[in-house]
Amino acid sequence: MIPYGRQSISQEDIDQVVQVLQSDYLTQGPAVPRFEEAVAAYCGAAHALATNSATAALHVACLALGVGPGDRVWTSPTTFVASANCAIYCGAEVDFVDIDPHTYNMSVACLAEKLCHARQNGTLPKVVIPVHLCGQSCDMEAIHALSREYGFRIVEDASHAIGGRYQGQPVGSCRFSDVTVFSFHPVKIITTGEGGMALTNDSVLANLMRQYRSHGITSDRTEMAPRDAGEIWNYQQIRLGYNYRMTDIQAALGLSQMGRLDEFVHARHRIAAVYGQALSGLPITLPFQQASTFSSYHLYPIRVDQERCGKDQRTVYQQLHQAGIKVNLHYIPVYRQPYFERMGFPTGYCPEAERYHRETLSLPMYATLTVDQQNTVIAVLKEIVNS
Ligand SMILES: *Cc1c(COP(=O)(O)O)cnc(C)c1O
Repeated sequence: MIPYGRQSISQEDIDQVVQVLQSDYLTQGPAVPRFEEAVAAYCGAAHALATNSATAALHVACLALGVGPGDRVWTSPTTFVASANCAIYCGAEVDFVDIDPHTYNMSVACLAEKLCHARQNGTLPKVVIPVHLCGQSCDMEAIHALSREYGFRIVEDASHAIGGRYQGQPVGSCRFSDVTVFSFHPVKIITTGEGGMALTNDSVLANLMRQYRSHGITSDRTEMAPRDAGEIWNYQQIRLGYNYRMTDIQAALGLSQMGRLDEFVHARHRIAAVYGQALSGLPITLPFQQASTFSSYHLYPIRVDQERCGKDQRTVYQQLHQAGIKVNLHYIPVYRQPYFERMGFPTGYCPEAERYHRETLSLPMYATLTVDQQNTVIAVLKEIVNS
């Protein structure tokens, strides 16, 4: 069986975790800040906050940006549901901007058009969450320019994209956004089991996100309400937050994995190059790469257009599965999920995202995919598509 994605855990990773297990702190010890500093330094961001998932990081980012009831948050329909749920947790309304047919990222043209209508209707978004699908950055410079014109804030959902670059800068630099979020789920580029991180260059946002991560508690005297000097007050809850903290056990794994990040991304590029060469003659569409981006290649999506290929996506999907190749589908448009459908989103709302859903499959792509395994995937796929 060959999965579409999986983690790579080395002996060094294991040793680092064991060291924490034998230390004084399993959580809130020294490993979390060390991991945060390593990621912030790698990305060139001023602040990084580890959380127990990317979902939690997206939630605290929205809270810190003041998203609440009556606000609107826009994201891509072609993403994991968490990109939209974070806004709903805050009581905001979510809406979707269709994708670009080549990069599969949020279409800047669709965003510009939707913003223009929203301004006329008084329904502009407070926050836009572009998603760097498959690890390829969105056109952040253009989205940032629109944010200036229309006054919204930007959270990059870079769950797929640690180790990627945009205009030569690491994804996570927050050059064109308020906050960038990474996921460390095992199928992502590096892992902490479960885990995420929020990066920002804004110290006010960083401080708010830190409070929201841990119950809305502060131990900074300047933020505390005055109390009788005779009482001990070593912390105060000054707003409503959550327990979204990462453990030191997870952070030790993350820190060790950070040391392997470039190696992982390099391996993914090597695999993408082999796919690119071996599959180029087939009647399928391979992932298009924008010149301004360096993808982390979290996913390698191929498009199976029935007219060109003679077979539909479902048939190819089933035949690959029968051969033990567990290709996956990323993603069903979020608004087609029953929960979102009940909010009133009709089928056909984002036509490109729906076409993508009907045509796309993610081939196996992970750092430890062997040459033999990849050759099997290529041979089986060629056989299916050519027969
Ligand atoms: C994985 C993923 C998330 C959620 O990450 P968790 O760490 O599992 O919470 C959010 N957005 C996208 C695009 C993802 O792929």
